[in-house]
Amino acid sequence: MKLLDTVAAVGTPYGKGGVAMIRISGADAIEIGDRIFRPASGKALSEVSHARMVYGEIVMPNGDGLAIDDGMAVAFYAPHSFTGEDTVEITCHGGILVTRKVLSAALAAGARMAEAGEFTRRAYLSGKMKLSQAEALGELLDAGSETQLLLARNGMRGTLSTRLEELYASLRDVLTSVFAAMDFPDEDLSEMSREEMITALGDVLEKTRRLAATYRTGRAVTEGIPTVICGRANAGKSSVYNRILGYDAAIVTDIAGTTRDVLRETAVLGRTTLRLCDTAGLRETDDQVESIGIERTWKELSDAELILAVFDRSSSPTDEDIALARRIAKEGKTAIALLNKNDRGSDRTFDLPLAGFSHVLEVSALTGDGFDALAEAVDGLFLDGTINMSDDAVVTGARQYAALERTAEAIESAVGDLLAGVSLDLCCIGVEQAMAALGEVDGREISEDVVSAIFSKFCVGK
Ligand code: GDP
Repeated sequence: MKLLDTVAAVGTPYGKGGVAMIRISGADAIEIGDRIFRPASGKALSEVSHARMVYGEIVMPNGDGLAIDDGMAVAFYAPHSFTGEDTVEITCHGGILVTRKVLSAALAAGARMAEAGEFTRRAYLSGKMKLSQAEALGELLDAGSETQLLLARNGMRGTLSTRLEELYASLRDVLTSVFAAMDFPDEDLSEMSREEMITALGDVLEKTRRLAATYRTGRAVTEGIPTVICGRANAGKSSVYNRILGYDAAIVTDIAGTTRDVLRETAVLGRTTLRLCDTAGLRETDDQVESIGIERTWKELSDAELILAVFDRSSSPTDEDIALARRIAKEGKTAIALLNKNDRGSDRTFDLPLAGFSHVLEVSALTGDGFDALAEAVDGLFLDGTINMSDDAVVTGARQYAALERTAEAIESAVGDLLAGVSLDLCCIGVEQAMAALGEVDGREISEDVVSAIFSKFCVGK
């Protein structure tokens, strides 16, 4: 599918900068480029070869001939452009008014204002990238940590797409083999036996499950783990919070469309992203209020996936400390006990019920001691250490994960039907459902694929 009109938008962030880039994409892009850009060489932009950048002036179409600005322009011819369509990119000086005027020139020359994400959507629709690659590109733009960047680049290179492709091809082999056997019983189309189908589907099922399981790591890196820092007043929660934020903080942006509050509390510890949640209630100083605060903020704790419980190790545990530790043990949440202020000495015993904690770490929010161990512990809890972030296929989005789960369920039901001796055409339904769910991950049209696979198979025998 192709979009027919030509669109334009400013490709660089809104604001004052050294340069700004205006992108025009679609069937009329080159013609529009000719109307608004005058190369200094005297040649028209359409006479300049593909991907060659030229200097010139930007003018209004049918205007008074006065240049809006001077700058550079480059034409990319379909399909060798980001969108897969004819594209012109004009780079002008990065003034707000100048940029706006260059964009208006493109619009006046016949382009439509591009919608949000439309260039990437066009790239997807013209087959330049798969859906998961487009999603990875979105993650690249949002990346605030090295690991997020690594995973996004990995997805953009198509590592996940390739793995999906392999799984899809295996399912298609099973399906086409059954269809061929049913539709052309006299042809020798090397159909699989029922046992072979079960084995083949079992193999795809295992691989699908393994791929889906990478989401645990992908999510921990990309989306982040809802985390609560709690503890009694003066234990050092704020200091721990600041230490974690300063440890290897994610880059904070206020780009429109991102939730500032959430980003403000996003930190990267080791390679894991933590979505830190405020537990203001626990910061009250009065004992009575403190215990009410613990009750109230426990609700927040119950939504968290990781609890960092801070205890002041330099004094004896208080009743609140013990109550908190017991509560955590009872709820069975993933929790790490941080025995803080170890710079004040760590020889005295600290008698706390620690059964509920996966790790108990001596730390000092003041000196930073113990925070490398904390980072290691968090990575160990949420990341699969066997995954190579730059080379292995990793699922990073909830949408992709949900589709893979449905794929696995459908394969499971097909295998169940096959084992139960259900007729082959009925077993195919489960395989088709699995293919449809798997195809969703990369936005694939199942029917078209199956038809062409059947015909290619048929032709081989002829
Ligand atoms: P909160 O009430 O739990 O948020 O605790 P704060 O982070 O405000 O810290 C309470 C007090 O303990 C402050 O005076 C901090 O400077 C001090 N503090 C926090 N962490 C440490 C630490 O690791 N070592 C030492 N010596 N003091 C700390």
